[in-house]
Amino acid sequence: MVAGVVDRDEVSRALLRSVGLRVTAPRLAVLHVLQPDGHLDADEVARSVRKRLGTVSTQAVYDILHAFTAAGLLRRVELPGSPARYERRVGDNHHHLVCRSCGDIIDVDCAIGEAPCLTPSDAAGFAVDEAEVIFWGSCPGCRAAGGPDGAPTPPTAT
Ligand SMILES: [Zn+2]
Ligand SMILES: [Zn+2]
Repeated sequence: MVAGVVDRDEVSRALLRSVGLRVTAPRLAVLHVLQPDGHLDADEVARSVRKRLGTVSTQAVYDILHAFTAAGLLRRVELPGSPARYERRVGDNHHHLVCRSCGDIIDVDCAIGEAPCLTPSDAAGFAVDEAEVIFWGSCPGCRAAGGPDGAPTPPTAT
């Protein structure tokens, strides 16, 4: 085992304890498979966790993801037309660049830094506390594949 891996699990243990969650192997594994800049859906997390631990039910992974989100360890990202994704980067009101072709998601810092970073033209009496911003487009890889004009390649049917 590499020293870095041990250190990382040690950090994860401290993180779990700091929010009052019991340290378990599946919980450590979920923290481990979510990279600092990653955005994985529950099935992707479950697959990666199983690679590390063997049998872990998808329901157990869902429960962990919900507990982590409630505890503020994860942020849940909802994109129209795709399952919710989870990310480790929390609490900074960052936004997302999403590729229409391949679905790649990239973090982008909020220009203002605090929610809500956009003001509605008419708030209609609402106390607005958040503006969810998603920048849709084509990622560099898909632009290159789509030719010099950067036309996006249509999504392949699955
Ligand atoms: Zn793309
Ligand atoms: Zn993000």
